[in-house]
Amino acid sequence: MDKEDLNVYSISQQQFDNAVKYMPHLTNGLLDSLRMPRQEKIVNFPIEHDNGQIVMYQGYRVHHNGVRGPFKGGIRYHPDVDLDEVRALAAWMTWKCAIVDVPFGGAKGGVACDGKNISENDKRKITRRFVSELGEFIGPDKDIPAPDVYTDAQVMAWIYDTYDNLHKGQNNYPIVTGKPLDLGGSLGRNEATARGSLYATIKAINEGAVPGLNSLNGATVAVQGYGNAGNIAAMLYYEEGANVIAVSDSQGGILLDHLDPESVLQYKQSTGSLVGYSGARNLTNGELLELNVDILIPAALENQITLQNAPNIKAKVSVECANGPTTPGADRILFDNGVIVLPDVLANSGGVTVSYYEWVQNHEHEQWSEEDINAKLKQKMEKATQDVLNTQRRVNSSLESITRAWENNIEEGIVSYVPEDIVRIDLRTAAYILAIERVANATMERGIWP
Ligand code: NAD
Repeated sequence: MDKEDLNVYSISQQQFDNAVKYMPHLTNGLLDSLRMPRQEKIVNFPIEHDNGQIVMYQGYRVHHNGVRGPFKGGIRYHPDVDLDEVRALAAWMTWKCAIVDVPFGGAKGGVACDGKNISENDKRKITRRFVSELGEFIGPDKDIPAPDVYTDAQVMAWIYDTYDNLHKGQNNYPIVTGKPLDLGGSLGRNEATARGSLYATIKAINEGAVPGLNSLNGATVAVQGYGNAGNIAAMLYYEEGANVIAVSDSQGGILLDHLDPESVLQYKQSTGSLVGYSGARNLTNGELLELNVDILIPAALENQITLQNAPNIKAKVSVECANGPTTPGADRILFDNGVIVLPDVLANSGGVTVSYYEWVQNHEHEQWSEEDINAKLKQKMEKATQDVLNTQRRVNSSLESITRAWENNIEEGIVSYVPEDIVRIDLRTAAYILAIERVANATMERGIWP
């Protein structure tokens, strides 16, 4: 079996490179400007823990591309956070914001720490110190953080409070989204990532984009990851009539003919784990991914579906609530095997969409109803899904003219070879093409400074 590059930054660049093969009209210099992050900040800082120990931490914030608006992206607290992971996540934010068409650019941040197991007090100290170290790198109209793995509304409240103390006398609510409702948070934000994925899935099914699946009603679902994205996805798909049969978290998963996600969540909250849930069979995360279900929802971390297990994926559609769960090698296998992938940059873009609504409400001193927010989110997700499906159809019906355009580029001396494998594209490539087109257009409309 081929060895696979699992560096997520390199994966995000492979995805970009694969998409631009279908865009012969874009010049190399412009592509370089879209491919690379604009600014990267690394901070090292000490924290005095509850037990008196002083420990150094490293934190990162990357601005990928801000052509379409202020930088926007979550903050992650996980031991595996490093510069390359944050770079990849920042690039994915750029493409995601363009696909769902919210006026933000892409950013991401994180601190390498054990976000799951550190005490609440230590998490608060890390958050305050990290925000103060970032200084003017973030700002309400410059770069707006949000929750990600092992950060939540409480962490967002500390970010707001820290920034507000350092910038007194102005409306600082728009500095961060995903805040508690008491502190300028938006109704619907907590559920937005999962709800957005639900709207995208229903739209894709209704458009006939998932062969063999005509309705969510009765469709079997397996969810990997039981945090904000995963547990709420399980609840919402269940409420919509789907049959959730398997869920997992970092400690493992459970399988049962029918699961009630509400009761599973209560079990997890009381025991700290899903494993041992009454009547269910325990299973590993690896086994969950390979279940014979209609819908697989990876909602945990990157690189879960790889060259190793992609041949064994049996789901009809994989709805990527997580960022980067599928490697490029796995993408090719899934495509060849007829497994549809609703890519992360589309499927989980509901989170940033409602973050945008929160930011607008904060700027306007407004509070919108949950009904209004969900209706706007539905419209955005359906439009984005349609746009990606249309892009896929358009590109797949013009493969010959794309090849001819490359041959013309050779004749004109613009390039020296035609890229290999101009073949039918999957939805990830279509989503990238749509996003790159939008960011490239905005770049050229602005003009290159100076
Ligand atoms: P979270 O911290 O709320 O939950 C993470 C979950 O993943 C937990 O249940 C944890 O147990 C589980 N997990 C961790 N390691 C695992 C492993 N090795 N195997 C299986 N499960 C594991 O985080 P979240 O906000 O739900 O984020 C999950 C994914 O969704 C991430 O990829 C994140 O980038 C993406 N995402 C989140 C949002 C958002 O608004 N929160 C938006 C877009 C994308």
